[in-house]
Amino acid sequence: MNARGKAIESISSKNTVRGGTVDYREHSFVDLYATHVFHEGIQQQRLPVKVFESLQQTIKKGEELDRNIADAVATAMRDWAMEHGATHYSHWFQPLTGSTAEKHDSFLSPHEETRALARFSGSELIRGESDASSFPSGGLRATFEARGYTAWDPSSPAFLLKNPNGATLVIPTMFVSWTGESLDQKTPMLRSMDALNRQALRVLRVLGNMRVARVECTLGVEQEYFLVDKRLAALRPDLMVVGRTLFGARPSKGQELDDNYFGAIPERVLAFMAEVEYELMLLGVPIKTRHNEVAPGQYELAPTFESTNLALDHQMLIMQLLQQVAQRHGFLCLLHEKPFAGVNGSGKHNNWSIGTDDGENLLEPGSTPERNTQFLIFCAAVCRAVHRHAELLRLSVASAGNDFRLGAAEAPPAIMSIHLGHVLSNIFQLLLENDKPVATGKKTRSRRNSEVEVSVHIGLPMIPRFPRHNGDRNRTSPFAFTGNKFEFRAVGSSQNSSGAVTILNTIVAESLDFIATRLETAKADGEDFPTAVRRLLVELIREFQPILFDGDNYSLEWLEESQRRGLPNLRNTVDCLPVLTSPESVELFGKYGVYSASELHGRQEILAEIYCTTIAIEAATMLKMSQTMILPAVLQHKANLQNVLTTPVQKKVLRELDEKIDLMITGIEKLKACVSGVRSEVSLLEKATYYRDSVLSAMYALRVIVDYLEGMTDDGLWPLPSYLELLFMR
Ligand code: ADP
Ligand code: MG
Repeated sequence: MNARGKAIESISSKNTVRGGTVDYREHSFVDLYATHVFHEGIQQQRLPVKVFESLQQTIKKGEELDRNIADAVATAMRDWAMEHGATHYSHWFQPLTGSTAEKHDSFLSPHEETRALARFSGSELIRGESDASSFPSGGLRATFEARGYTAWDPSSPAFLLKNPNGATLVIPTMFVSWTGESLDQKTPMLRSMDALNRQALRVLRVLGNMRVARVECTLGVEQEYFLVDKRLAALRPDLMVVGRTLFGARPSKGQELDDNYFGAIPERVLAFMAEVEYELMLLGVPIKTRHNEVAPGQYELAPTFESTNLALDHQMLIMQLLQQVAQRHGFLCLLHEKPFAGVNGSGKHNNWSIGTDDGENLLEPGSTPERNTQFLIFCAAVCRAVHRHAELLRLSVASAGNDFRLGAAEAPPAIMSIHLGHVLSNIFQLLLENDKPVATGKKTRSRRNSEVEVSVHIGLPMIPRFPRHNGDRNRTSPFAFTGNKFEFRAVGSSQNSSGAVTILNTIVAESLDFIATRLETAKADGEDFPTAVRRLLVELIREFQPILFDGDNYSLEWLEESQRRGLPNLRNTVDCLPVLTSPESVELFGKYGVYSASELHGRQEILAEIYCTTIAIEAATMLKMSQTMILPAVLQHKANLQNVLTTPVQKKVLRELDEKIDLMITGIEKLKACVSGVRSEVSLLEKATYYRDSVLSAMYALRVIVDYLEGMTDDGLWPLPSYLELLFMR
C-alpha cells in the first residue's frame, strides 16, 4: 500500500485527530468574551483617571496622543499581561506580504547579576524599530538603509496571544519607513478613514447636520475557507506549498447536487469551528455565523460588523486562528481563492457602510428612502465612486490567486457593477424620469427599517406574515446593496481586506468632496437648497447609471452589455497593474493624503513581484511533482501493463498510454523552457505579462495531460490523493 492508501485507511478507520475541548458550563461566553483584550473597561479600571480620559480622547475622537501618558499605559498593560501569564510583548503589523508580522521582546530585564525586573516603557509601547529591508517595500527602502518603525495604533486595543507555554502581549501597530512612507496595509487604510471622515462631515454639515462629530466606516467580513485532512494534504506538495491543487482530475461527484450549502456540519468540523470561535471570543472578535458553503469541504464564518480598523485587525486574527486551530484538529485550512479547479472558489465578502459617532448608519434608507435626502446623497456618492473608479476597485482585489476566481464564470465577475435592488433602482429611475422624488408605496410602521413595504405571506394560518427586505439578493453581483450596507464580494479569501477598503474609502471620499463642494456653492449662492439637491442627484444618477445592473452578472449578455456601456473589464492582475500609477490615481490618492506617488509605485512593484513569484513557485512545484511523483507512477503502470496486454484491442490501451506519456514529457519540457525563459532585465510589467502568457499557459497544458493520465492509471499506484478524497473525506 502506498502512502496515499495508508492515509485513507487511517482516516476511514475513524482514527480522528481531536483538538482541544471547549466547555461553557463553568464560564459562559458572556463572562469569557474579550477577557484577553486590554479593552476600555480594563483601561478604566487600571489607569489613572486623567490618563484614561486622555487615551479615550485619542481613541474616540482621533486626537493626537499625549506622549506623557505612554509610561502609565505601558505599565498598566504590562501588569495586566503578566497577571495573565505573559512574558513578552510584540509589535504586530501588516507588512505588504499579505499576512501579519510579529517580533517578540521579553519584559525581562536583568538587574544586578542575580535579579531580574519586568520592564515595559512608554517609548517601547509607542515605537519599535525593525529591519525594513526584509519586508517588501517595492524599492522604497534599499537594503543598506534598512531602518523601519512600528508605531502603536491606540485605536485597536492590545491583546494576549496564549501559547501552551506562556503568552505574549500583542500591540497593533503601523509600519513605516525611516522617512515616514507606509510599508504596511494599516497606515494608508487609517489615512483613508480620515479622508472619508472629513468629506462625509462636510456633506452632513451642508445638509444641516451639526450634531455629528465623527464619521467612520464599518466593516463585517465573511470569510470562506476549505478544510482538508492533513494526512491527505501532507501527500500533496502543491497544497502544502502553494495552498491549491496544481493537478487533479474532476471527481465524479462535486457540488452538482447543491447538497452542501447550509448542510449539516460534520461533527469533526464543528468541533474545529467551536474551538476557533472560542479563541476568537477571548480576543473579543464577535463571530456570529458559521455554515457549510457551496462546495464540499468549504465553510464560512462571519463576525458582527465593527469599526473598520478593528474589523480589519480581527480579520487578520481570524485567518491566523483558522490556520492554527486547523493544525490541532488534523486539518489543513486552505484560504486560497481557488484550491480546486472546477469547484467553487473562496471569497471574502466585505460588508461596508458609513456610520456616525451618534450611531446612525448613513446608508440606512429608512422606511421612505425617496424622502431621505441624506441617504440618497450618500448612496449616490458610493455609486458615483464605483462608476468613476471601477478600475481602481478591480485593482484592489487583484492577485494571482483571485484571478482564477474573478471572471471565471463564477462568483463575482471582473466587471465591476452595482446591484441596488428594485426599490432603490426604481427610486433612482423615477428621479431621473420625473426629475422629482416619487413615493413608492404606503408607509408602513417600520421594524427594521430596511425591511419595509411588503410582507411575505406563506399561506399557513399559524405562521404570521413577516416583513420582506426591500430588494432580493443577487449573488452574482460584485458590489451589492444589501439593505443598509454595500457588500463588496470580489475580495479574495486570502487577501488582507485593507487594500480594498483603502481604495473604497478614498474613492467615496472623492465623491463626497465633489458633492459637498457643489452643495456648499449652491448654498453660498443663495439657490433654493432642495432644488439644488435634487438637481445634483439627477445629474449624479445620469452619470453613474451605466454601473447599475440588477441582472445575472455571469451571463454572456452582460459581458456584451457592459462593453456597450463602456465598463472596464480587467481580466487579470497584469491588466490591473498600470492602473495603480496612472496620473489620475497619483492625483487622487495624493489629494486625500492616502498614498504618495512613491508609495503607489512601490505597491505596484510589490504586486507585480508577488504575482511573478507566486507563479514561479507554482511552476517549480508542478515540475517537481510531475517528475518525481507522477511520472514514476505512470511508468510503473505502463510496465505492469506491458506484460499482460496481449490482444490487438488490449494493445490499443498501451498505445494510448504511450501517447499520453509522451505528451506529458513534452509538457514538462515546455514548462521547463518557459521557466528558464524568464528574463531578469525586463520591466516588472513585462515580466508579469510573460508569466501570465507563457508560464501559466504551459502550466495549464501540463495539468490537462496529467489529469487525463490520472483517469488511465492504476488507482493503487497514483501517489496524489484525488479530488474525491480531498473534498469528501473527513
Ligand atoms: P447578509 O445576509 O445580507 O449577508 P448579514 O446580516 O448576514 O447580511 O450580514 C453580513 C455581514 O454584514 C455581517 O458581518 C454583518 O455584521 C455585516 N453588517 C451588517 N450591518 C453592517 C453595517 N452597517 N456595516 C458593515 N457591516 C454590516
Ligand atoms: Mg452576505
